[in-house]
Amino acid sequence: MLVLGIESSCDETGVALYDTRRGLLAHALHSQIDMHAAYGGVVPELASRDHIRRALPLTQQVLAQADKTLQDLEGIAYTQGPGLAGALLVGTSIAQSLAMALNVPSVGVHHLEGHLLAPMLEENPPAFPFVALLVSGGHSQLMRVDGIGQYELLGDTLDDAAGEAFDKTAKLLGLGYPGGPAVSKLADQGKPQFQLPRPMLNSPDLNFSFSGLKTAVLTLVNNQPELNEETIKDIAWEFQESVTEILVHKCLKALKQTKLKRLVVSGGVGANKRLRTRLNEAAAKRGISVNYPRLEFCTDNGAMIAFAGAMRLHAMQPGKQDYSFSIRPRWDLTELKAPQ
Ligand code: ATP
Ligand code: MG
Ligand code: FE
Repeated sequence: MLVLGIESSCDETGVALYDTRRGLLAHALHSQIDMHAAYGGVVPELASRDHIRRALPLTQQVLAQADKTLQDLEGIAYTQGPGLAGALLVGTSIAQSLAMALNVPSVGVHHLEGHLLAPMLEENPPAFPFVALLVSGGHSQLMRVDGIGQYELLGDTLDDAAGEAFDKTAKLLGLGYPGGPAVSKLADQGKPQFQLPRPMLNSPDLNFSFSGLKTAVLTLVNNQPELNEETIKDIAWEFQESVTEILVHKCLKALKQTKLKRLVVSGGVGANKRLRTRLNEAAAKRGISVNYPRLEFCTDNGAMIAFAGAMRLHAMQPGKQDYSFSIRPRWDLTELKAPQ
């Protein structure tokens, strides 16, 4: 089954073609980062307008790349939520119009299910069940995954997400938006000089809290007589150590609690090199396997939506297709059900 996937939940327009027999055939992405950078964050109205401009040209581009035409499509998947309402509406209305015109089935995909399943696009995909660490700009969750749509929430952040902490720390250090890659690059050149807390490291649950860490960075920054390059690198180093130590510790705890030996990491922070190194080391010692998406599929992309949509469309009973549409800007992942 050849499925077109469209992602437009935030500031990236991602389009991809996934074939359930042949795998990922093509993918294309337009990031709006440069457009929003001047404002220090995503401006929803600008985001929606840009998705309108990009979605169809990107669709043409992936079809051409895969040497396919619209008529070859057998299903369409789109991000239905969660995300920015206007941005979601663009992808959803384009996807449903295309599906109706082509008379093919369509499916609204949960953005986080997309992130969660993204490691399955790689070689040697993990088998169910596994523990998933989902660390993105808006979420920090540990989940037990027993199959598609079978998600049990084990732990969540009580305040900021890990990616959000990276972004806010970047702002405090004057590094611009989005901050994750910038903080991480400088951190890798830093050294241990400062001390930051490890919030909730030893809490009895699997929850996280990152907002206190950001406040601690603010205090540290304010206490510096001069915020020179060296100091920035060292603060970034310590910040990254704190976040990665907490994430690794809680992953191990979740694996122990569930008695599972497989870990899957996804979301933008999953691209962090230091996190990968620390997780791989800790996992190797304990006979645990860890799967990640390729770097470009850690952050938002169309491939993960095409894949999750294809898995669902493939497993769904053919029924009467409904081309009316609604979006779900707020949508809890645990509300999802296995396809039937
Ligand atoms: P959500 O998926 O929760 O709605 P989102 O789509 O904005 O949020 P993603 O696209 O998965 O999130 O990831 C973006 C986040 O990942 C940003 O907060 C960014 O700073 C962070 N990030 C990206 N690369 C890195 C990195 N190398 N190290 C740390 N953080 C990173
Ligand atoms: Mg983004
Ligand atoms: Fe995302």
